[in-house]
Amino acid sequence: NRRFLLKRRPKGDPVPEDFDLVTEDVPSPPAGGFVMRNHYISLDPAQRGWMDDAPSYMPPIPLGDPVRATSVGVVHASDNPDYEVGQWVMGLNGIEEFSSVVPEHFTAKIDPTMVDSPARFLSAMGAVSLTAYFAMMEVAKPKEGEVLCVSGAAGAVGSVVGQIGKIHGCKVIGIAGGPDKCKRLIDDYGFDFAIDYRGKDRHALAKEIAKAAPDGLDIVFENVGGEVMEAEVMNLAHYARVVLCGLISEYNSVEKHGLQGLWRILTQRATIHGFLIMDYADRFPEGGAQIAEWMAEGRMRIDEDIYEGIENAYETFMRLFSGDKDGKLVLKVA
Ligand code: NDP
Repeated sequence: NRRFLLKRRPKGDPVPEDFDLVTEDVPSPPAGGFVMRNHYISLDPAQRGWMDDAPSYMPPIPLGDPVRATSVGVVHASDNPDYEVGQWVMGLNGIEEFSSVVPEHFTAKIDPTMVDSPARFLSAMGAVSLTAYFAMMEVAKPKEGEVLCVSGAAGAVGSVVGQIGKIHGCKVIGIAGGPDKCKRLIDDYGFDFAIDYRGKDRHALAKEIAKAAPDGLDIVFENVGGEVMEAEVMNLAHYARVVLCGLISEYNSVEKHGLQGLWRILTQRATIHGFLIMDYADRFPEGGAQIAEWMAEGRMRIDEDIYEGIENAYETFMRLFSGDKDGKLVLKVA
């Protein structure tokens, strides 16, 4: 059982020395639980936060434990008649080939015959699409004709956010890194405008946003923070809603900068709303059904970018921060 352990807490950008890849015996099933052979492991920006020893919505990953991760796999050995060997399952486990699972702990049975690949349970049917869905439907509440701007737009959450905006009749602006991703926003995801943020400060970016949205932004869906968010806030329309979903540009910075443009929130009477997907855990089936329906109707496209081998866990994880990936980042380990 190869396991990718957190050896020490990263300072700034994670480096290979912060982790250890160890080989251990495959565990026996815990009492009332089972051992799962992981096939696909989700790599998410949130994992960077869990590596820090700072107050958050979940305890930090203990040093010496595998990096916490959602995984999809098959029951390999079981001490629970409800979980037979061969059953597909998913849950919050770790970056490791085999996980010891107590079923009460965020575990769900899944049916991979419903989808073209079990990895879909980490993307389309997973927490990232559901984040986009619930944050849009319950917080942003898009209305026909409104202008939506989403950052991290070509990513797992952002690409779904923009498509939900289009389904609800919004004009959608996406901010992403590089010309290829910007092209994909228009060609693959049907956005109205795409803005490349690379190499631009907040003033240059704000000008580009203003060109695309002369009457301002009604909804800002924030995945990035920093200069990108500053530029968006400079363009808020009256009574705009800002959904604060993520601040990935700050996850590796030792000093967190926060927002400089608070005055603009006041003058525009805007609302900022923090969002955490965990709050909607009991409504996942409802969100998953809607996403599946939109996909079946050809109104939504969801992409995964799958890399292979647990020995590549570090390099693959770092793609979240370099942006060198398209769609939901997944590690295949079986
Ligand atoms: P993505 O698939 O969007 O991958 C991360 C992307 O972030 C990269 O591809 C890169 O895109 C962009 N990025 C990385 N570093 C920077 C930077 N310094 N400045 C600007 N862009 C950067 O990840 P997810 O869709 O999984 O997550 C997106 C956001 O949503 C994250 O902030 C995450 O924490 C948050 N999130 C929040 C949840 C919640 O419940 N609140 C749940 C799930 C996710 P590019 O090439 O365009 O730069």
